[in-house]
Amino acid sequence: MDFKIELAKKMLQHKAEKLSDVGHFRGIKITDKRWTKKDLIMLCNLFAKDFIMIHLSASSIATFKACPYRYYYQYVLGLRPIVDTDALRMGTNWHRIQEIANMQPCGVCECMYYIDEKDLPMKGDPDPNCVLCDGNGILPDDLMDAVTAHLNQAYAEIPLSKTEEEWEVEKIKFLYSLVGYQWYWNDDDYEGESLEQKFSLPLLSPISGRKLKAELRGKIDRIFSAGDNRFIHEYKSTSASLDSDSTFWSHLTLDTQTRMYTYAARQLGLGACGVLYDVWHKPQIKPKKLTQGESKKFVEDGEYCGEKFEIGLNESPIGTGAPDVLLVNKREAQVESGAKEGTFAIRETPEMYGARLLQDITQRPEFYFARREVVHHDDDIDAFTWELFNIYKSIQSMSNKNTFWRNEHQCEATFKCDYIDWCYSHRDIGPDEVPDNFRKIGVK
Ligand code: SF4
Repeated sequence: MDFKIELAKKMLQHKAEKLSDVGHFRGIKITDKRWTKKDLIMLCNLFAKDFIMIHLSASSIATFKACPYRYYYQYVLGLRPIVDTDALRMGTNWHRIQEIANMQPCGVCECMYYIDEKDLPMKGDPDPNCVLCDGNGILPDDLMDAVTAHLNQAYAEIPLSKTEEEWEVEKIKFLYSLVGYQWYWNDDDYEGESLEQKFSLPLLSPISGRKLKAELRGKIDRIFSAGDNRFIHEYKSTSASLDSDSTFWSHLTLDTQTRMYTYAARQLGLGACGVLYDVWHKPQIKPKKLTQGESKKFVEDGEYCGEKFEIGLNESPIGTGAPDVLLVNKREAQVESGAKEGTFAIRETPEMYGARLLQDITQRPEFYFARREVVHHDDDIDAFTWELFNIYKSIQSMSNKNTFWRNEHQCEATFKCDYIDWCYSHRDIGPDEVPDNFRKIGVK
């Protein structure tokens, strides 16, 4: 087979070197008019499977299952929207702040570590721009300072799709939810064993056991032990109900990610691990306007939902009319005058909203947080091995023959697909093309 690979490589290289008429095929510049597209398709069908390494992750598998064409756009062409969706951004940030909160107080900052060319972890100088350690390489004693610094950086720029208040409120949701999370799970019985572990495992054929041209990639957040059992910790955020009878939980029996982690743990020699599915229900409450009575009391005593705020007023004293400018913790609050003289209503500032959110979290924590231990048995993992194999074969076949198909039922199913404009108009996107509002990321 080696000589065939070499031959195919040479043929394609030869074509790329003969620049007379630039065209593209599967990301390779094809420039020789003597070769027809049919020839190239044949060539690639014969040899492409020998070149292409397919990288499978929980999200690429989910994407492929939903719509193979979405997989093609996202993982073959590597095209992603410049602006992340709200769900993706919130999931990523929740994950990240948990990661920061689990770092070692006063420990060495992650910015001092890097991976060298031999893939080995090395220690170097601190990154002067790192917000977690303020550029000195040592994390703060209180990791909430590092979390706050990270969120301030992440939310420094307001995207066009958000108002200043919406953006600030989103940041506040993370801060107060993390405080609530740490309070709620303070006394759990899980003992942390190890922190984050990235894995990249060869996919093995369930028939012959040989390595396939595919790798399984992922990141295990933490390993915990609880009694005799071990669990892989996985943070999730959702808008679905976390009630015990919610289908959110029954759906987990089919979940790709938890099965993949169990499969990976076995391959990594971590033994039989279950998955601790640790879920945060994203807050649904929004900033609101206080009643006139609440507004009056708040301006008088600065207390709101169990927190004390610093109140500042301009020249208009209370009782003579609504203040023109009301400062709450030095931030201007919106104030609406009432029909009756001297009455007014204040709209919550993001910090006041945060205080109410935290109060709500402490009053009904089970609405916001829930955990489940998910255990997949040998039968599940055997079935998953076959599932991976079949997915790999399907991706390989579609890649080789360029026959990714579209699942029209997913275009507007739970959300509007990012690629809908191209699909609905049957627009062909070239391998080097990066349409407006999209970016190209490492093609897998
Ligand atoms: S718009 Fe529809 S067909 Fe196109 S990639 Fe998205 S889900 Fe698939």
